[in-house]
Amino acid sequence: MMTKESIYNVRELEPGLYRIGNSAVFMDLIVGSHHALLFDTGYGYGDLKAVVRSITDKPLYVVNSHGHVDHACGNQAFGGAYIHPLDMELCREHNGPQMRRAELDMAEVPPDFDLDAHLGLGPGELKPVGEGDTFDLGGVTLQVIHLPGHTAGSIGLWCPEKKLLYVGDAMNCFVWLFLPEARELATYIRTLHKAARLPFTHMLQSHEPDPVPKRKLWDYLDLAEHLDFEAGTVVPAPFGVESEVRICTRGGLHYDDRSHPGFAAIMISREKVRK
Ligand SMILES: [Zn+2]
Ligand SMILES: [Zn+2]
Repeated sequence: MMTKESIYNVRELEPGLYRIGNSAVFMDLIVGSHHALLFDTGYGYGDLKAVVRSITDKPLYVVNSHGHVDHACGNQAFGGAYIHPLDMELCREHNGPQMRRAELDMAEVPPDFDLDAHLGLGPGELKPVGEGDTFDLGGVTLQVIHLPGHTAGSIGLWCPEKKLLYVGDAMNCFVWLFLPEARELATYIRTLHKAARLPFTHMLQSHEPDPVPKRKLWDYLDLAEHLDFEAGTVVPAPFGVESEVRICTRGGLHYDDRSHPGFAAIMISREKVRK
């Protein structure tokens, strides 16, 4: 029988580290000896809390990587979340009925989905968190790393014990830097260098099912530092963005050629390059 939980699939990467997937969105649950932490709450469909509680009954920290609709719209079931202050307003906007409605086709919803109840959900209580704050889960710690670019308040969580960096949407092989809330390309480049200085072996990205080796950072950096906006492919500006938007790829690869080992792309608006 389909249940409110079964739109989620749970994968245990190693003891205490779980990835919870709903369509193309992945959330992470990290369980220590006395606390657990959920990084992102997704679109808020179904019953994510029941999924988390089927894995651990430990006191839970809930943290948003950033304020976007696919990362922070399940907050209310947990009473709220920690988020960087620079993304709080964005998070409130994306928790509103307009954004929730616009994203309805993007992921699987349960069979008994209650649209009105979903549209009425809010962000819950948003609590500030920032650079250097640390969540001690017992035997495993997660340190907040500010990673602006995709949004102003994007954060990552660095886990020194597991040598992992949870990055949300802050860096990946198809990073979005075209939305109004994105920062300029130079900020994204500084963020990549900052991540590169941290000791870790793999990144966990919100839209990539598997851990990504750290060396991919150099592909992202190579593209970002040599970005040729004029050589990019013009795309119809999504979400009503007014500036011209292009997809720029590394080495002139086609933007659909994601299986190429050196692939990296940045979808960016002209104004974010110029600044
Ligand atoms: Zn995002
Ligand atoms: Zn996302």
